[in-house]
Amino acid sequence: MSKVIVIGAGFSGSCAALMLAAAGHEVVVVDRDAGPVPAGPDEAWEWDRRSIRQYRMAHGLLPLGHQRMVEHFPRVVDRLREHGGLEINLAHSLVDLVPGSGHRADDDRFVTVTARRPTFDWIWAAALADEPAISVCRGAPVEGLLRGSDVVPGVAHVAGVRFAGGTELRADLVVDASGRGSPIVDLLAGIGARRPLENERDSGFAYTGRYYRSRTGELPEMRAPLITPMGSISLLTLPADRGTWAVTVYTRADDRALRAIRQPEVFDRVLQSCPLHRHWIDGVPIRPIASMSGVSNRIRRFVVDGVPVATGLAAIGDAQMCTDPSLGRGMTMALLHSELLRDVVRNHGDDPADLAVAFDEATQRSLGPWYEATVTNGQLRLAEMGAAARGERFEPEGPAAVAYAHARAKAVDEDAARWFAELLSCLTTPDELFSRPGVLARVIEIGTRPDLPQVPGPDRRHLLDLVARAAA
Ligand SMILES: Cc1cc2nc3c(=O)[nH]c(=O)nc-3n(C[C@H](O)[C@H](O)[C@H](O)COP(=O)(O)OP(=O)(O)OC[C@H]3O[C@@H](n4cnc5c(N)ncnc54)[C@H](O)[C@@H]3O)c2cc1C
Repeated sequence: MSKVIVIGAGFSGSCAALMLAAAGHEVVVVDRDAGPVPAGPDEAWEWDRRSIRQYRMAHGLLPLGHQRMVEHFPRVVDRLREHGGLEINLAHSLVDLVPGSGHRADDDRFVTVTARRPTFDWIWAAALADEPAISVCRGAPVEGLLRGSDVVPGVAHVAGVRFAGGTELRADLVVDASGRGSPIVDLLAGIGARRPLENERDSGFAYTGRYYRSRTGELPEMRAPLITPMGSISLLTLPADRGTWAVTVYTRADDRALRAIRQPEVFDRVLQSCPLHRHWIDGVPIRPIASMSGVSNRIRRFVVDGVPVATGLAAIGDAQMCTDPSLGRGMTMALLHSELLRDVVRNHGDDPADLAVAFDEATQRSLGPWYEATVTNGQLRLAEMGAAARGERFEPEGPAAVAYAHARAKAVDEDAARWFAELLSCLTTPDELFSRPGVLARVIEIGTRPDLPQVPGPDRRHLLDLVARAAA
């Protein structure tokens, strides 16, 4: 048994801590944000989690993430349901919109139980508190790493962490799960380690949205897909726990004309101009509109030219790899990454150098394709939004043309809708899907038909008019 420090009690830190504790390790989870843990999900909504910028932005858990939760943390899923977690079937949310379609026996793979992000954080906090092998220290920002004796000559070995105020804590392994704002690059520099490879670029999106609570207990009817591209905007309508839901408008971050959507009256006016979406703002807003941009796609490699930049350290979740959140994959990736870490610790826990290399390889192999696919999807949508803003026809080529055709075909073809749900649920990668016999040809044939119905909503001129009326 070894001692592990996990920096961050967010989604990935909590999953990793619970999996490592179940594997027999003694785990200390430290988090910058202070406790105490609130009494329940609604109190958690008000919890001051200032280190998680997206805490009150729309969040949903994908079916693959749900499946992993059921496998590893059945009691956590039970608790989530007891406290209002909402079961939805992602395939049905698409297939039900296709005329003449039906449900299938194996559609239960598309089920998820989802909730607001604060509800998940509250559920995780309760799970951590229940586990005797885990201690949690909140209000404890990590400000430095401790360097131990080198295991590989010349490669810094991380032997623990230092908190603000100078207190030190030692461990056999330090797991960085401190999210998008992870200070790990500076922390490593502070102990003389080499710099990780880092590829970071602004995703180019801005997200504006708010949560609502039902007046009647009923959730709004799904009349359009959860994510609806609509020219230079996309709409996300996401049901959540305890009679709540989120409505989010995505735009290009550089689309200055649409920045006024952050004003409540403009936000409402835009939604009211969308016939299949306007009923989603018929609820009690839970908080003011929140907006977020400067959201980057970033991947870090902690093994450079085959040599770890440090031993005794593993970075997981957003600290290692994060993308634009349009497809809602972050929490699912955090679960998969925690699993990889647990397996690599089991197989290489006695050799810090092997552990670092094996974890890097496993991460690239398993999560790398998802990272690439998510970035590619975001770039495609950005390009489409840009063309709509300029009034140009959008004509993607190659794999982008396939993705574009598939997004259109799902509106009229039940199989295309279910295949789309597989991708959205992270059950299948695009490569796996389009290598199946007949899928590619069918998607192209249907998705390129000129007469496909469009989800009704404002065109660019109408949008600009809605925004201009606000400024006047
Ligand atoms: C706008 C937006 C919407 C999103 N929507 C979805 C969605 O619908 N579905 C989905 O799956 N994902 C979504 N995501 C992604 C998701 O939020 C992240 O992928 C997920 O939170 C990753 O969890 P994490 O534990 O790695 O990081 P975080 O959840 O950010 O947790 C990091 C933790 O580290 C702590 N911490 C930070 N610095 C320190 C320090 N120095 N010392 C100690 N503790 C520290 C913080 O307090 C925090 O608790 C969204 C992201 C954004 C930006």
